[in-house]
Order: sequence, then C-alpha cells, then structure tokens
Amino acid sequence: TTDNEQPRVILVTGASSGIGEATARHLAAEGHHVVLTARRTDRLDAIVADIEQAGHSAEARALDVTDRTAFQALVEDVVTTRGRLDVLVGNAGVMLLSRLDVLLVEEWDRMFEVNVRGLYNGIAAVLPHFQRQRSGHVITMASTGAHEVPPTSAIYSATKYAAWALTEGLRIESDPAIRVTTISPGVTQSELADHITDAHAAGFMVDYRRSAIPADAIARAVGFAIAQPADIDVSEIIVRPTAQR
Ligand code: NDP
Repeated sequence: TTDNEQPRVILVTGASSGIGEATARHLAAEGHHVVLTARRTDRLDAIVADIEQAGHSAEARALDVTDRTAFQALVEDVVTTRGRLDVLVGNAGVMLLSRLDVLLVEEWDRMFEVNVRGLYNGIAAVLPHFQRQRSGHVITMASTGAHEVPPTSAIYSATKYAAWALTEGLRIESDPAIRVTTISPGVTQSELADHITDAHAAGFMVDYRRSAIPADAIARAVGFAIAQPADIDVSEIIVRPTAQR
C-alpha cells in the first residue's frame, strides 16, 4: 500500500450534526479512526455507537473549540493514546445571519469566536505535533460565503474569508510535508440555519435553502482530499447545489 491508502487518525470538530457528522461517518466507513468532537456529547455517543455497530472505528470527545487549552489537551491526549494524529478537520461553525444595521453585535462576536478563533485554536494545537511528525493535513470548512457577500452575511462571510485566508497562509508557510485544504460548501442540509435569531434573515433562508444538498456531498469532498497521494495537495474544493445562485 502507498501512504495515502493507510488508515489515518482524524479529528473532526463540530461532528455532532450536519457536515461534521456526515464527514465523520464517511471517513470511518473509509477505514480511518475518527475522533468526533463537539459540545453535545450525547449526540456524539449515538453517532459513535452507529459507526462501531457498522464495524468501523471512532471515539467521542467533548470539545468547545473556543477553549484553546482544552483543544491542546485533547490533541495531546489523542497523540498519546492513539500514537498519532494525521488530520484535523476544522469544521465547527455558527451562522447567525442578520443585516449589519440590526446591530446584533454579540452574535458578531460569537461567529468570530467559533468560526475564526475556534479554527486557529485547532491549528495551534496540531501544528507543533504535525511539524514533529513531519506529516499532517489541516482541512478547514470555509463556505461559498468565503467568495461572495450576500445580504445579511457581512459578518458570517467575514469569518469565512478569514478562514480562507488562514488556510492559505498556513499552506504557504508550512513544511511541504503538511497538507492544507479548504472545503467551501454551498447550501447544504444541516442545523446551521436553525440558530438564526433575526426574523428577516431566517425568513429569507427558508427559500434560499430549498436547494440544499445532502451533507454527504461535502463529506465525500473531504474524503477525496485525504485520499490523494502525499505529494498532492488539494487546496480548495467548492461544492454547491447546481441550482445555487
Ligand atoms: P450544524 O449546525 O449542523 O453543525 C455545526 C457544528 O458545529 C455542530 O456539530 C456544533 O456542535 C458545532 N459547534 C458549534 N459551536 C461550537 C463550539 N463552540 N465548539 C465546538 N463545536 C461547536 O451546521 P453545518 O454542518 O452546516 O456546519 C458545519 C460547517 O460548515 C460550519 O463551519 C459552517 O459554517 C460550514 N458551512 C455550512 C454550510 C451549509 O449550508 N450548511 C455552507 C457553507 C459552510 P455542538 O453544538 O454540539 O457543539
């Protein structure tokens, strides 16, 4: 077997629903060991039970990505218990859409806390280990909102442009033995829009999200990037509904 066919140890953030859950299930089915993390551990336990029942390998661990110390401790623990960590899928995110003039500034803070700080907390936790190991793969979940700014999406898109820039910066600076990928999903079935509090933005989303594609479509893109030979770095994949405008 070549390097790319070996089972990896993969940590997925935000694995309790939507894209993270689908990604964890897909990667476990491909034969990797998946460490599922999120705050809702009851959800994670149920998903891991399913994965194990299907004969695959996974574990559930509580993690709030905004807690940098906890992130670092978890990565160290995975490296100690599993002997390695090969891939970080930085997927956890929130999308609290609203027009700027509604001034939901606490929601702006929350999006930056989770989508940007939570992402670089993960990079800070894995990077020293990937450098020591002289291999590793950081995969981040940006968005088509990292390429365009639809109305109500100014702050959310700002966090996703930031995620995109952070990922590209990591690629440019890293040891070539470390791979870096951004996945930019379009409208995808998940719980993402359920947390929007602004009535105008929530109402707009009902129509906008009708064309949403299954989360497994994004999971397959993650799997594709991981499965490439070690000398091939998939920098970005944009996956969106054919009907998305
Ligand atoms: P979901 O709401 O279904 O999933 C979000 C995940 O993030 C949950 O597992 C949630 O777990 C986790 N999460 C939220 N806050 C935290 C936190 N502080 N610490 C740890 N985990 C957290 O939405 P999606 O699956 O759609 O979202 C996944 C990613 O995909 C996000 O980054 C999103 O921006 C991105 N994306 C989604 C698109 C879509 O249309 N669905 C389009 C483009 C990008 P828990 O609450 O248990 O902690």
